[in-house]
Amino acid sequence: MGERDAGQAASNHYQNVACPFCGILCDDLEIGPDKNGLKVLKNGCVKSVSGFERHLIDAKPQIDGKDVSIEDAIKAAAELIKASNLPLYGGLGTDVEGMRAVMSLADLSGGVVDHALSEGQYRNFRVLQSGGWVMTTLTEARNRADLFVIVGSDVHAIHPRFFERIVCTEKSMFWDAPPKRTVVILGENIDQSAITGPRIGEIVNLPCKGDRIGEILVAMRALAKGVPVTGDSIGGLPRAAVEDLVARCKAASYGVMVWAPPSLAFPNADLTVQAVSEFIKDINLTSRFAGLSLGGNEGAVSAAAVCAWQSGFPLRVSFASGKPEYDAERFSTARLLADKATDLMVWIASYTPDLAPPVTDTPIIVLGTPGLKLNGTPKIFIPVGTPGADHAGLIVRCDNVVSLPLQNLHRSQLPRAADVLASIEAAL
Ligand code: SF4
Repeated sequence: MGERDAGQAASNHYQNVACPFCGILCDDLEIGPDKNGLKVLKNGCVKSVSGFERHLIDAKPQIDGKDVSIEDAIKAAAELIKASNLPLYGGLGTDVEGMRAVMSLADLSGGVVDHALSEGQYRNFRVLQSGGWVMTTLTEARNRADLFVIVGSDVHAIHPRFFERIVCTEKSMFWDAPPKRTVVILGENIDQSAITGPRIGEIVNLPCKGDRIGEILVAMRALAKGVPVTGDSIGGLPRAAVEDLVARCKAASYGVMVWAPPSLAFPNADLTVQAVSEFIKDINLTSRFAGLSLGGNEGAVSAAAVCAWQSGFPLRVSFASGKPEYDAERFSTARLLADKATDLMVWIASYTPDLAPPVTDTPIIVLGTPGLKLNGTPKIFIPVGTPGADHAGLIVRCDNVVSLPLQNLHRSQLPRAADVLASIEAAL
C-alpha cells in the first residue's frame, strides 16, 4: 500500500523541502538523516523541527486497543461505516489526495465533512461569502508592501518564520534597494521578537483587546471617509493613535493587513474580519491595500479547497441526502457531537500529535500519526504517514494561490491516509 517516490535512500539529504507543519509552507528547508529519523539542517523553526524530528513510536493498527492486521482494521472500519446512520469525517489533517479520498468516502457513505480548525476558517468564510474581500498573497506582500498592520494575531506563535520570510526580507523583486517597512501591531500580547533587521523602519504598537479591533476598524473607516467620530478614545486606544493609523494606511503605497483566524478567538470574530475587509475596500479607492489571512495549519486550507472544488461549499457539507447539502452551523463537528446527530466519527490527523479528537462517547475510527494524543481508546486506530515526511503529497498554502508538492523523506513506511481511505471505501 502507498505510493512512494522511488530511488531515494533514507540517508539522503533533501534540499528545497516544503514544510507542511503550518499554513505558510516554507519551501526552502534542508533536511538530512539522523539516528532517530530526520534532522532539520537549515531554515527550520521550532514547529518544523518538532514535526520532522519527532521520533515515531512503533504503532500498529488496533481494534479496541488490541493489535490487528491492517486488513482487519480496514474491514472493521468499513463495517462500522456501513452500519452508521450519519458518519462524521472530522479532523481532516491530511493533504489534497487524502481529502479527495475523504470526499469520495463521505459521498458514498452519506456522511458529513468538517475540519478540526473550521471554527477559525469560518471567521473568514462568512465574510468571503457575504461581502467579498481584497486579498493579497505571501509573494506579493513580501515584494511590494511598505506597511504591514498585524491585526490581533500572534503570528509568530502560529507561523514562526512569517516575519523572517515575508516582512524582514532584505531583497525585493522590484527594487535594488527596497524601502524600509513599517509594522503596526494592533493588539496585545503579540510576540514581536522576529520583527528585526535592516528592512524594518518603524514598529508602532497599538495595544488593544482583540474583541475591540472591529470597533477600531469601523471608526477608521468613518475617519477615512471624513465622517465625524466623537470621543477621545476609540476601542481603548487614544483617538490620536487611531487617526495616525488611518493616515499611515492612506499614505502607504502598498499596505497589508495581516491576521491569523485562530488568533481571533472571541465571539462573532467574523465581524472583526468583516470590518477589516470593508476598511481595505474603502482604502483601495485611493491607494493600494490588501488583506492577508494566514492560519491553515493541519491541512485546513487543503481540506476547505478540495471540499469547495468538489461540492461547491467550504466544509460542513453533508452527503446524507445523496447530494451535497451545506449548513455552517448544523454540520459543525461540535454541534453534531453535542446533538448526538452522528453515531460514528472518522478522525484523520496525519500531521501533528496535537490534533486530538474531541472528547465524546461517540465511537471513533482514527487514522492518525503515531503518538496522536487520544482521550481514550478509539474503536479502531490505523497509523498513517505524514505527507511531506513519510510519503509524497500535495498541500494548499494559506493564501490559497498555490499547491505545493511535498517530498517523500522516507521517514517511515506508514501508509498514506488516502490509500487507507480508498481501501475502506473498496470494502464498503
Ligand atoms: S514557519 Fe511554518 S512552514 Fe515555515 S518552517 Fe516553520 S512550521 Fe514550517
